[in-house]
Amino acid sequence: TRTLLTGGSGFIAAHILDALLKRGHSVVTTVRSQEKAEQIKTSHPGVSKENLDFVIVADISAPHAFERVVVSDPPFEAVIHTASPFHLRAQDVKKDLLDPAINGTVGLIKAVKNNAPSVKRVMVTSSGAAIMGFSKPQTYTFTEADWNNMTWEEATSNPLNAYRASKVFSEKAAWDFVEKEKPHFSVTSINPPMVYGPIVHHIKNLDGLNTSNERIRDIAFGKAKDSCPFTGVFLWVDVRDLALAHVLAIEIPEAAGQRFCVSPGQYSNKDIVECIRESFSELRGGLPTGDALKPGDFPPTGWYGYDNTKSKEVLGISYRPLKECIVDTVNSLNPFVNKGEGR
Ligand code: NDP
Repeated sequence: TRTLLTGGSGFIAAHILDALLKRGHSVVTTVRSQEKAEQIKTSHPGVSKENLDFVIVADISAPHAFERVVVSDPPFEAVIHTASPFHLRAQDVKKDLLDPAINGTVGLIKAVKNNAPSVKRVMVTSSGAAIMGFSKPQTYTFTEADWNNMTWEEATSNPLNAYRASKVFSEKAAWDFVEKEKPHFSVTSINPPMVYGPIVHHIKNLDGLNTSNERIRDIAFGKAKDSCPFTGVFLWVDVRDLALAHVLAIEIPEAAGQRFCVSPGQYSNKDIVECIRESFSELRGGLPTGDALKPGDFPPTGWYGYDNTKSKEVLGISYRPLKECIVDTVNSLNPFVNKGEGR
């Protein structure tokens, strides 16, 4: 299947790109610059232009950013939309987080409706943030039927809320579009909680690491020795399982029109520390112990569940354990340590 993948330079998208190519799809991916296209090309030596090509989309929130991008020869049959800002450095939360997420999603699916009649499936990388509203009691298990009902006022109150809301509003906009416009394609969303895992995308140094993996970096390499990072979400998924879920979601007809909660379950900072302690004796001295484990610790009264039944039954996903994820992540970050340009 000829597939358009947005945001190919990202942590998750790089794994989706690998999974697409491995499963025989031909891919056009959007990146923000020619430099990023070259970096991706370099990490896929021997892959032909027919199987991997690039389009520059410098800013997904620009009006009509995707209007021509969705046109290709041979024509696209599927679209996977991952590009969306995930960082908490926003100065202006509307401009930096909400607009690109919402306008990017709406702009893309409008373009598909207008200019890409051959597309049958559109996959949107949403988030657990679009499912989990924290006003429910912490004994609750979330399912695909749940929505985080954030208001615009809450959304604009701080960067973390704005990021969470950007996922709520952009996913909602996609479903609203389908309901109102009845387009020629179906939408599917995948809703991961915290995504951890080895990096296969290009980074210059560990300061440029994607947001979710910062936790693993900080715990593994000494930054959290005196105090563990805050934890907002005690549920996780391995990036490789998530990437495969994306590709299966465009391949499996029953996935059309569905949302998917994807996660093997809960984790805590302590669990991550243990995984690292057991496997990397040379890192033990920098790991947090005792009171340093208290910030962001798993609540004694428990935390929300996340029902993965549908992901197993419809997509057939089987989830990697945390230990494998953490060990592979640390190994992928290790080459960047002590390079002089990292931390
Ligand atoms: P990354 O930051 O690694 O990837 C984000 C991608 O979006 C990058 O390719 C980035 O381009 C692109 N992007 C961001 N803003 C713009 C913009 N204005 N114009 C064009 N491109 C833009 O993060 P992840 O891989 O973690 O995130 C990918 C998706 O997964 C996002 O939709 C995110 O919300 C979602 N997600 C992630 C979770 C996680 O824990 N990692 C959890 C739940 C959902 P560039 O590299 O050039 O900046």
